[in-house]
Amino acid sequence: VRFGPRHYGFRTYLLQIGRTRGLGQIERAKARVACISFGPKNRSIGAAAKSQVISNAKNTVQGFKRFHGRAFSDPFVEAEKCNLAYDIVQLPTGLTGIKVKYMEEERNFTMEQVTAMLLSKLKETAESVLKKPVVDCVVSVPCFYTDAERRSVMDATQIAGLNCLRLMNETTAVALAYGIYKQDLPALEEKPRNVVFIDMGHSSYQVSVCAFNRGKLKVLATAFDTTLGGRKFDEVLVNHFCEEFGKKYKLDIKSKIRALLRLSQECEKLKKLMSANASDLPLSIECFMNDVDVSGTMNRGKFLEMCDGLLARVEPPLRSVLEQAKLKKEDIYAVEIVGGATRIPAVKEKISRFFGKELSTTLNADEAVTRGCALQCAILSPAFKVREFSITDVVPYPISLRWNSPAEEGLSDCEVFTKNHSAPFSKVLTFYRKEPFTLEAYYSSPQDLPYPDPAIAQFLVQKVTPQSDGSSSKVKVKVRVNVHGIFSVSSASLVEVLKFEENEEPMETDQNAKEEEKMQVDQEEPHAEEQQQQTPAENKAESEEMETSQAGSKDKKMDQPPQAKKAKVKTSTVDLPIENQLLWQIDREMLNLYIENEGKMIMQDKLEKERNDAKNAVEEYVYEMRDKLSGEYEKFVSEDVSMCLPTRCLLGAALNVLSILSYVKNLGQPIKMRFQESEERPKLFEELGKQIQQYMKVISSFKNKEDQYDHLDAADMLKVEKSTNEAMEWMNNRLNLQSKQSLTVDPVVKAKEIEAKMKELMSICSPIISKPKPKVEPPKEEQKNAEQNGPVDGQGDSPGPQAAEQGGAPLTNAMCCSWENRPLHQQQVDN
Ligand code: ATP
Ligand code: MG
Repeated sequence: VRFGPRHYGFRTYLLQIGRTRGLGQIERAKARVACISFGPKNRSIGAAAKSQVISNAKNTVQGFKRFHGRAFSDPFVEAEKCNLAYDIVQLPTGLTGIKVKYMEEERNFTMEQVTAMLLSKLKETAESVLKKPVVDCVVSVPCFYTDAERRSVMDATQIAGLNCLRLMNETTAVALAYGIYKQDLPALEEKPRNVVFIDMGHSSYQVSVCAFNRGKLKVLATAFDTTLGGRKFDEVLVNHFCEEFGKKYKLDIKSKIRALLRLSQECEKLKKLMSANASDLPLSIECFMNDVDVSGTMNRGKFLEMCDGLLARVEPPLRSVLEQAKLKKEDIYAVEIVGGATRIPAVKEKISRFFGKELSTTLNADEAVTRGCALQCAILSPAFKVREFSITDVVPYPISLRWNSPAEEGLSDCEVFTKNHSAPFSKVLTFYRKEPFTLEAYYSSPQDLPYPDPAIAQFLVQKVTPQSDGSSSKVKVKVRVNVHGIFSVSSASLVEVLKFEENEEPMETDQNAKEEEKMQVDQEEPHAEEQQQQTPAENKAESEEMETSQAGSKDKKMDQPPQAKKAKVKTSTVDLPIENQLLWQIDREMLNLYIENEGKMIMQDKLEKERNDAKNAVEEYVYEMRDKLSGEYEKFVSEDVSMCLPTRCLLGAALNVLSILSYVKNLGQPIKMRFQESEERPKLFEELGKQIQQYMKVISSFKNKEDQYDHLDAADMLKVEKSTNEAMEWMNNRLNLQSKQSLTVDPVVKAKEIEAKMKELMSICSPIISKPKPKVEPPKEEQKNAEQNGPVDGQGDSPGPQAAEQGGAPLTNAMCCSWENRPLHQQQVDN
């Protein structure tokens, strides 16, 4: 799932499990639109909601990606508020929510709930395509998302009943989609291939530089402009036309949200046209506002001038990634661009000029992120066998811990993850403490953070007690940035000194005294015990983390003081509980409530859909019947029924549509049946007639003692004659009765009965008459001829049903004509 901001929002890729070797086939389920429209009876999600952006503007939400994990008081939210057609509100938690009218009631929803609605829909779509339950997924998020935003998206996946195997940075997903298929990457020991990936989408601009070796991708650095995207370019046009039309037609466009939305849509179209066309292009909207038609023109040159400020923002992130990765432009092997807004020629030109090279567009601009997610999902899923490919991402912002240090009488802090530190990654920190203590995690360079609050979380390490001699205990705390890019203090343990070795002064006592109430980064290592509660798929993710961590720990250990190794004590460790206070975390109870509510809304939508489907079915049925009743069915309608058939007014009546359907079907069904029967009947009688005729012919040949049948048994042939006569009698009788029957009543004989009769006749006669003629040794000459001319065992001439079909005795025209009103007479056949 790619998580996008607006109508380019969500796309799902499905992995068709077990189809082909290796990865299997990647299939696109459906491009979904990140839009939800709330109605009086249901929600519309995706494309159906998009069509209501203008007609149901206040209750149609889009562009909510940017509000995840953000307080209502966030300056960014403040700034966005005025551009929205729908209302956002402050939720009791302080977070931003949406306010809409749903089921005739005002309702507030959290951003997690809104995104979950979309994810549920995607889940349902995926399930209906794959015809099996879908639970595991990989969801992409911008590489600049902070922990609060990431956790918020994770919660949304849970509300939707999904198990998110990884929240993947969009730029990393693109890099994976680029690298996994490349056969010609440098070997592991060779200099890596550095590729820059640039994604300018609707709302933001992200750049990353990655180093590739065979089977391996390592993100070196990322940079971004979180508010530069296609949307900003649309805004330039919107502002321009608001001003122009304001003057020209005296319209205050910004006062009418619907007009503004229409103008935005038109401006986006115009922007796209300008990417392909440099000439003057028109923008006209009929009945735009107050019944006024408006029109104007624009061209690429003028547009570029107006976008000067935006275009100046293209270069800084490019320069930034190179600086961070300590690479020169010459070190870059390729610059790959994705994202819709990179189609703007001026944007491409800026990037190309900066790097001094042609840009590569080998990836699908709209789908590369989603493909990357699908590939990552395949790597993590135990159901796929995928070529080994290791992915190392980066920590986008430096993370520090702060704690109260009794020894230093005040706050101490330490940067535990530097910017661009490999991720996922775990570290173990050692503290010396006598009592429980709190660790406060925060982003240590708030000036670079596109988020107003540098706090991440507080972790209270509980049940810490002094050692038996009253000195400080050694407490090991594991901190990590997990596979989703989320920081946590994942475990803590107290190291209890049980017994010192005989006559030996414990080295660590001195050490402890020195380190009293201090902290040290003891080592970096993976913690395998966490894998216990994980699914196999997660295990795979963890093991990736382990590899990364181990690689890191080797480097780091060289810098470590060797003192930890000297300890000659027996110790045991006791796990310590940790209490988390994560910024903006939804508690479990609320989450369960949201899960339950989502379930209810899904049911409601389903019910409404069933009701609508039924309504459509009634409508369709009645309209079809009405046309036919005066057309091909006319002859089959009895008068009483024609009076009863409902018209459009009945459909409008507030009756239960399902009962209407069964009502009209009860009326219409017999008519339809009579019509269908009257179509089938003549064909079947004709077939039966032919069959009877074939048998009659054999009987007469047998009676004439023709060579061909002289091997048949007389008693058997009597049976054939009897059955054939009986069948003919039955057919003549039914044809007679039916010819007298009105078409407005049920037929005397049904198609099924004719079929049954034919089967019965054939089952008796065919085995008898197709009995093979015993072989007679022909003289040599004759045999030769026979071989050349066809079968010799007599079967080829058998007049059984097959032979008849393949061109047995041809029927004369007279025999072929309608059987409906013309009983078959014995003489006819005998003749
Ligand atoms: P984001 O990455 O910011 O979260 P997104 O991934 O949903 O957003 P994309 O689908 O990559 O965004 O790009 C959508 C943007 O690209 C829209 O603003 C759209 O108008 C713009 N766009 C698409 N095609 C063109 C084009 N031919 N010329 C100019 N802009 C285009
Ligand atoms: Mg995007």
